[in-house]
This record gives sequence, C-alpha cells and structure tokens, in this order.
Amino acid sequence: MFTSDPNSHGKRLLAVSAAVADEQRPALRSIDGLDEHTRTPAVEVARLRKTYAGGVEAVKGIDFTVAPGEVFGLLGPNGAGKSTTIGMLTTTVVPSSGSARLAGYDVATQPLLARGVSSVVFQDSVVDGALSGQANLDVHARLWGVPAPRAKRRIEELVDAVGLSDLMARPVATYSGGQRRRLEIARALVSSPRVLFLDEPTVGLDPRIRHELLDAIVGLRARENMTIVVTTHYLDEAQRLCDRVAIIHEGRIVSLDSPEALLAGLGPEILEFRVDGSTDAPLAALRERGIARADAFAVGARVTVPLHEHAASDALAAIESERLHVTEIATRIPTLDDVYLQLTGARIAEAA
Ligand code: ADP
Repeated sequence: MFTSDPNSHGKRLLAVSAAVADEQRPALRSIDGLDEHTRTPAVEVARLRKTYAGGVEAVKGIDFTVAPGEVFGLLGPNGAGKSTTIGMLTTTVVPSSGSARLAGYDVATQPLLARGVSSVVFQDSVVDGALSGQANLDVHARLWGVPAPRAKRRIEELVDAVGLSDLMARPVATYSGGQRRRLEIARALVSSPRVLFLDEPTVGLDPRIRHELLDAIVGLRARENMTIVVTTHYLDEAQRLCDRVAIIHEGRIVSLDSPEALLAGLGPEILEFRVDGSTDAPLAALRERGIARADAFAVGARVTVPLHEHAASDALAAIESERLHVTEIATRIPTLDDVYLQLTGARIAEAA
C-alpha cells in the first residue's frame, strides 16, 4: 500500500534495521544480564518416542527440559529406556517421533550442531588402551580442533580435577576401571561441551571406586558449571548428583522433580514390616484405620507404609489391636528407593 507520508520510507528503514539488530541480539548480553546461552534450555525433549525395528517400544513419548547448569538424572531399572533416550539425544539412535534439542539445536535436523555442543561418556570404553592417558586426551583435543595452547591448559586442569595427574604417562590398559572412567570423563570435557551425557557412569565399579568417581563428578560440576544428563539405576547416585530426577519406567516418565520434593511426597517417616503370607489383609486393615494411605505398598512379603502425619506409635497400636502377625517392624526416613517402588509397584499391580 502506498502512503503519502514523506517519512514513511525512513520509518520502514528504521524498522528493518531494528529487526536485523534483533536477530543479532543473541550475541549480546540482554538487560537482565542473561545471555542467549543462559536463556536457551540446555536440553528440550518433547513427545519423544522410539520404537525399534521389530516393534519394541523403548521410549513411549517423554517430555522434559533441562536448564543450563542443571544436573538432570534419568533413573530407572534396566530396560526402562534410559540408554535409548541418551542415544537419541546424542544422535546415535534416530527418534521415531517427537523432538529433542540441545542448546536449541534439533538432534534430527541439526545433528552436527547438536553434537558440537555436547559430549557423551558411554558405558563401553572408547579410550585407546595402548596409548597413554595423555596421548588419548591430546588426540581427542586435536580431533575436536581445540587450539594446542588451550588444549594443553584444558587437559592439565581436567586431569587435575579428576585426580589422574600422576598416571598420564602410563598406557590406559594399566588403569583400574575407576581410573579409566575418570579419564573418559576428562576426555569428554576437553571440548568444553555445553551438555555432558553420562550413561550409567559407575556401572561395574566396586562401591568404594563408585564413591570416588561420584566425588570427581561432583567436583567437576562445581568447577565447570556445566549441564549434565546422567542415567543411572542407582538411587543413591541420583540423590547425590542430581538437581532433578525423571523416574523412567517402561519407556515413560512416571515422576519428575527434585530428589527432595520426590522424598517429601512420602512424608517424614516410613514404617516397614514383614508379613508371613499375604500382605493384602494387613494393608487393608491399616488403610481402614486411616494409618495407611493410597501410597502404602507391598513388595514381596515386605509392607511399606509412609506415615505422613501419624506417629509410629499409632501405627504400632493399630497393628497390635488388629492382631496382625508381623515381624521386623522398623521405622526409617524415606529414600528414592521407596519413591520408585511405590510408583512402579503400583503400576505393576495395575497391569496384573
Ligand atoms: P535402559 O538403558 O534403561 O536399560 P534401554 O534403552 O537400553 O534401557 O532399552 C529399552 C528397551 O529397548 C529394552 O526392552 C531393550 O531390550 C530394547 N532395546 C534397546 N536397544 C535395542 C535395539 N537396538 N533393538 C531392539 N530393541 C532394543
């Protein structure tokens, strides 16, 4: 449409240059002090699904977002769909539908960019056993095009952070399982990724080494302020490392929150006991008396009752007056194990 306003052309030019400036703005710091990297979610997953050839529905439509700097856990037993999810996020498994973005880059349509901002430590070793730790990291830095002086500094820092400085000249074949895993994590960080994926980082390690490795990851996290997505079937690991945890069961997220919030849902204390025979009658009796809520559950012969506002003494009195034959009665604080068992136990019961 034509206009007689003599200033309109100038106004349009101003509008165009403002729009260009807008597009360039991601490189600039915005007024609230957050730059574009800080604003864009590190990971955005929407309705993501994977059905393998042959029909196994490994991931059945999951959604989650991970903020920059967050440590996010995918927690579930073997076969839950954790590795498939990590595979899709790291572009090694093609999603059947839905989308996943890393720092804004779509893993399906922009796989190179998505890979460029992330690193992964898989369960299987990828370091070269014949080479020294130092050579492994040097080769990786060259592959990623990290400039030599920066790579030298970065490798020194990382090796120090994971406690391997004394071992760097030795062939990796002589490392223990825990040392090798720490080297793999350092290797993954050489490229300064925005998102680090750790797939079952402590699997196969003995308990002491597991704790050492977890310490190393916690230390790195504090230093690097990076985003970590970690899969695990160890509940204590999720509780120790993660800001938020998605509990995965049979390809679906059944709960997603901070470990504290997940635990708070079960109240401050749990009563647990064993039953000889069926657990149905004692559970029903405690429910009738209002001691047990819907979140009480049984696994095998063991009954778990989150007490919420009730005192343990009320529960014991109820057990006594109902003449329930129970043994090994104890109270304790809830763990993520209870959260998981409660959620998945309920589902298994539903399906039965
Ligand atoms: P998790 O990492 O939680 O143990 P996975 O993602 O490895 O779970 O597996 C989820 C399901 O998908 C399992 O039933 C597994 O057997 C199946 N699965 C995994 N990889 C493949 C594949 N390449 N082909 C067919 N089925 C697979």
